[in-house]
Formats: sequence, structure tokens, C-alpha cells
Amino acid sequence: MSKAMRSALLAIGIGVIAGVIELGLPAEDMFRAMRAEIRTHDAPSDIIVVTIDDKTLNALQTNLPDRKKDAQLLDQLFEAGASRVFFDKAYADPTNPTSHEAFEEALKRHPETYLAIAPPLKEGVHDYEVVQPIERFKENARLASMIGQSGPFNLSYVFPTATPVGRGSVPSISAGLAGYRGPQKEYRLDFGIDIHSISRVSYIDVLQGRFDRDTFRGHAVVVGQTYTGTSDVHYEPLGSKIPGVYFHALGAHTLREGPPLDLGWVPGLILSAALMLWQATLRKPAYRVAAGALALMITVPLILDYLSIGVDVFPAILCFTIGMIALERQARRVFDESTGCLRVEALESATPDDSVLVFALKIKEFSFITRDSSNKVIIDFIREGARRLTTTEGKVEFAFHKDTIIWLRPRIETAELADHLAGLQALFRRGIAHAGTKVDVAAHIGVDANYEASIRSRIATAIQSAEDALQACTPAIIANSDYLTARDKRLTLLSDLDEAMARNTVQVAYQPKIELATGRTVGAEALLRWTHHEHGAVPPEEVVAMAETHNRIDDLTMYVIDTALAGARLARQIDPKFQIAINISAIALTRVQLIYDITFLMSKHHIPAENIIFEVTETAPLDDRRVEAVMSALREFGIHLSIDDFGTGHGALNYIKRIPGTEVKIDRSFVADMTVSAESRSVVQATINIAHSLDRRAVAEGVEDRETASLLADMGCDYAQGYLFARAMPINDLLQHMRQIRIAA
Ligand code: C2E
Ligand code: CA
Ligand code: CA
Repeated sequence: MSKAMRSALLAIGIGVIAGVIELGLPAEDMFRAMRAEIRTHDAPSDIIVVTIDDKTLNALQTNLPDRKKDAQLLDQLFEAGASRVFFDKAYADPTNPTSHEAFEEALKRHPETYLAIAPPLKEGVHDYEVVQPIERFKENARLASMIGQSGPFNLSYVFPTATPVGRGSVPSISAGLAGYRGPQKEYRLDFGIDIHSISRVSYIDVLQGRFDRDTFRGHAVVVGQTYTGTSDVHYEPLGSKIPGVYFHALGAHTLREGPPLDLGWVPGLILSAALMLWQATLRKPAYRVAAGALALMITVPLILDYLSIGVDVFPAILCFTIGMIALERQARRVFDESTGCLRVEALESATPDDSVLVFALKIKEFSFITRDSSNKVIIDFIREGARRLTTTEGKVEFAFHKDTIIWLRPRIETAELADHLAGLQALFRRGIAHAGTKVDVAAHIGVDANYEASIRSRIATAIQSAEDALQACTPAIIANSDYLTARDKRLTLLSDLDEAMARNTVQVAYQPKIELATGRTVGAEALLRWTHHEHGAVPPEEVVAMAETHNRIDDLTMYVIDTALAGARLARQIDPKFQIAINISAIALTRVQLIYDITFLMSKHHIPAENIIFEVTETAPLDDRRVEAVMSALREFGIHLSIDDFGTGHGALNYIKRIPGTEVKIDRSFVADMTVSAESRSVVQATINIAHSLDRRAVAEGVEDRETASLLADMGCDYAQGYLFARAMPINDLLQHMRQIRIAA
């Protein structure tokens, strides 16, 4: 069972308990009283209270009307057409026998007279005796019970329609007044009927005939005490003290409007429970639904009140509120409000699954793009990114961490993966709407394919690989176990490289560059050489890749230039035209500061710009504006540029045109087999022609035999390098080699 489901069930349990122990009673009653306040309407005038009020007592000059007066009152009322008369009084005390006589006679004359009775009651330790009329009255009158029950804090009142007395039962005053004939039950007084609007006539006015002819005709009447100081008063919910007799009249009106149906707390709780269980199945609670449900729980009871249907909503609201808060808190642990995505931690808890790949897509310069944006704009931006991803990734859940979108995806075959990654990149290349404009987003992707590892570590690997891809300026890195092993090795090598550079134990070797027409050495290419104390000679490509991914490339580039220029200074003492060729990593070209550093090194070693040629591989990202700027600056400065490894990259004519170079280096792969492959031969010839047509020199790399060398010379190639002429060698060997050639020349 999910955590959310457990919370929902717990909340429902609390709701049930609250319902059973009536935990919410005062709140429920308070709410009911407030609804009554809203619905308040006047009582009809068909039940009349005859009030023994201050005016009556003053007029009679006695404490209370005696029985003779009550007898007269009955005559007046029934003469006026009253249908039934109830006394909210028991006539339990024997007083003046002469007045007894008169009252008894009146009772005999008017059989529709009801005297009150309070059945015996056991309340805690108290035993209340029955309160009932004295025998002679009881024999001649009907009885009506005057008991009712108030809820805590007088917020509600429940009356019975009848009360058991002895073997039988007597109707309550309210049921009698209403002429209620239905089954015996308890009902709640409806304070939506304004208790203050109940019709009333003063006792003394009735006695003296001062009332409208039709006031009592066909109506039920209840007589009760309302004078100041009477002890029979009760609080109206959320209101003031009201004489008890009005409560009986209000009860009668309540029963008249249709005896209220009290459904209790169960229906509300069932609905609320159903809603909770549904919410628990969602990833994230639907706040609108929740707000709507709460609004319904508040308004529906009001509507039901109008239909005389009573419901208790406190257990439902309690269950719903507790449940939603719990679900919301759980959701917040899973979702990040500030990004609208999952939290990475939520993805991490996914069970390891060897059928998924872990993807991390790092948005380049994310914090820069969103630096001035509000949270909402950032969320929209990320959402748009995630939305685009769903077009290829399907229905997956995206997490967001700092500047990286992370997701798990069913495994794809390695062959298709490359295409897939290219597709993902393309999704982002179209600008994303952000803060009113479209921003171009560069994305670097890391994919983890180490199926045995935990999801947590796989996510970390994917994120790190995306970071590595960004550092290495490659679109994507697929991190499988080979990659990780290599990476681990790189990391140990890295600190050793730092140390080696600091101690000057990284070396530069020089491979002579030959003019094919004359066989003259015109310069040399500086090539990195590093021998690790444990791993032996580390291939320069590896050193460069490592430096690129770990932010050392600028240091390494400067180190090589510094060393190579020092060597070139010595070589120029032999041949002032000596040209030093230095490989520059594409990433190093993104740093504008490079130009200043180079000028510094040039003056340090007294090397003029025309004696330097930088080799830039064809894979350099020319779409990067900074690279273009640095290259033109170098060229303007007088430094020569060479396109290295020509023919291996995405090289098009277009590319040569855009690089302000002086030289094109034909890749070794074409040169190596040009004597046997007609195809390679054509590539070489075409490259030479293109170079010349654009006023560039052509250089052949990797010339290993005489046949190739003479073929190249015939084809018009300008320069060549290769084992045929010389391997890369230490500076002293190069100097010696140059001196020998001079002597030979
Ligand atoms: P590259 O720029 O194409 O350098 C030429 C590579 O071909 C060198 O390998 C060189 O030793 C090799 N080579 C030269 N003549 C022959 C030949 O006749 N036959 C064969 N089979 N190989 C020949 P190396 O020194 O291992 O360098 C490999 C790559 O490492 C270089 O390729 C270059 O891309 C990179 N690299 C080397 N030094 C540096 C450096 O200081 N900075 C940067 N950024 N890259 C460097
Ligand atoms: Ca090179
Ligand atoms: Ca090359």
C-alpha cells in the first residue's frame, strides 16, 4: 500500500472516530446555528403563544394567574375558536380548592386542553420524580410532555415527539401543537424559523377579550410564562435568553415544515472518504478539487437545511482536512513547487530496474537565462522544456535539479541511442519561449547505462556525465561501465597531471614539417608527451580529453604554448623562418583571454606572430560566437591558422571558408592508403585543389613511405609530415636535426 493510501485511511479512521464520539458536536452545532442564521424566516401565525408576561402580572396584581383565571382563559380561547390549548405547566401543586373546582369544570367543558407532564428522569446521580397534574385535573385533561434536551453550550436543542410515561406515552407539547401523527422520534429544533417571530398574545389581553376575532380560530395555543424573572428560560443558539414556551412553539413549527430527516455524519464521511481515496491515487493532490469539495461541504448542508434534511459534516471536514494536509506534505516531498517537477530524491527512490536508462539533460547557462525571472516564469520555462521532451520520451516523470532535467526511460539499443540523443538536442535547438522572448537553449546530455547500479548512483552518474559533456563541448556522453572506469582513471591521473605541469615534467616533442618540393624543414609541430610514473606514456589525446572535461585545458594549452615557444626561440637561432605549429583544443578557443595570454608568451620568448601556426581541428564548434571571435583576432594578429584532420569531421567547403586559415592538413587516414585506394587519392587531390583555390597551403600528415611522398609532390601538395621524414623528437634532437640539414644543404 502506498504511503498516500495509508494517510488517507488514517484520516478516514479519525473521521469515523470523530463521528462516533461526537467529537465535533459544538462545532457542528455552531455551524448549524450559523446556517440557520442565513436561512432565517418568520414563523407562520398558526401557533399562538399566550404569554404570562409582566403586563399580565401587573394587571392581575398577583404573582401568577390562579386557576380561576386559567378557567376563564380556556373559555375565552375556545370561544374564539382555538383548536387545542396547551399549558406549559403541570398543575402539580394542590392550592386553593375553590379555584380547583372552577378549573376542573373548565377542563370538562374543553376536552382539547392539555396539561404538561415531565416524566421521571434519571440524570447522573439525580433522580427526578415525575411532575404531573394532580389527580383530579389529570383525569379530566389530556397530557403533553414538556421535556426537551439542549446540546453543549446551548447550540442546539433536540425534542422528542412523544415521551414514554408509565405503560403508554404522551405526545410532546410541540408534537401536540403541530398535530403531529408520525412515528415517535427525536428531532432537532429548526432555528432557521425565527423564534422571535412566533405569534403571541398577552394572557391578560385574552382574558379581557382584547384580541382580533380571527387570531385563534382553528389554531393551536400554548400558554406559558414569559415575565421577567421566570426561571423557564433557555439560550437561543448564538443568541439571548428566550422563555421555554417559545421553544415548544418553535418545535411545532419545525414539525409542521415536515419533520426534519437527520442523516447524521455517515453520508458526509462516506463522500469525503471516497474523495480522499481518489486523491491518494494521484501523484499530487488536486487542489482545485480539494477546495471545491470543502466548499461543497459547507454549502450543501445549507441547501439540505432548506429541504429539512439535516447532515453532520464535521467528521467529513475533519477527515478531509487532515487527509489533504497529509497528502500535500507527502506530495511536497516528491514535488518541487519552485520547478513544478519531481524532486530528484523522489526519482532516486524508484526501484532499480535494468530495463531503464537514466537521462540527464543539462541546460547550459540556465541560471543566467533565468537570472531575472520570477518563479512562475522559471516553472513555465522548465515545463516547456519537459513538454518538448515528452514528444520523444513519452509519458515519463521529469525531475529537475539545479539546471538539469532528469528522467528514467525504457532502454534503447545502443545503435538507436545516438539518433535519439541527436533528436533530443534538436528539440531544444528551437528557441524556448521565456519571459516574452525566445531563448536559444544549448543542452548537454548525460546517459547512464550502468544497469546494475542503484538508481541513486545512476542519477548521479547521468548528471555528472551531462556536466562532463558540457565541459568537453560534446553534445552527449553515454556513461557505461567503460566510461566510468576511464573516468575514474582520469581522475587519478588528473591530480598527477597538475603536479607534472607544476614540476615541468610534461614534455613537448617536435615533429619536423617538410617542404615537399625542396625537402627543406620549414618548421615543426609541437606534440604533447607525458609519461606517468605508473601508467607509462599517456596518449596526448587522452591527456587533452581529461584536461577538457576537468577544466584544465586552459592551463594545459598555456603550458604547451609556453614550452613550444621556448623551443621555437632556439630553433629560430638556426633558421629565423622556423614556424612552430601548436595544436589548440577547440574548448581553449572559447576563452577570449587566450589572445592576451598568447601575446604575453610571444613577447616573453621574442617570437613574431608569423612564426606561429595554430592547428585547430575540424570539429571545433564554429557556431560558438566566441570561437569565431578568437580565431579572427588571432588571424588579424598575424598568427597563422591551420585546419587539422581535414576530411574527418563534418567538414564542408563552407567550413574552410569560415576559418581564416592559411593551411589545410589532410588527415592521416587518407594519406596512409592513397597509394592503394583511388578513393583516398581523389580526396587528397580534391583537398589540395580546394586549399589552393582558396589561397591556402596543403599539408599531408602521416607520410610513411617514399611512394606516398612523391605522389603528393606530383599532386602539388606543399608540405608533409611523417615517419618517413622524422618522428616527433625532443627539442635538442630537433635542433641537431636542423643543424645537420643546414650542413647538408
Ligand atoms: P595530430 O594533431 O593529428 O598530430 C599528429 C599525430 O600523428 C601525432 O600523434 C603524431 O605523432 C602522429 N604521426 C606523425 N607522423 C606519423 C606517421 O607517419 N604515421 C603515424 N601513424 N602517425 C604519425 P600524437 O603525438 O600521438 O598526437 C595525437 C593527437 O593528440 C594529435 O593529433 C593532436 O590532435 C593531439 N595533441 C597532441 N599534442 C597536443 C597538444 O599540445 N594540444 C592539443 N590540443 N592536442 C594535442
Ligand atoms: Ca596537429
Ligand atoms: Ca592531424
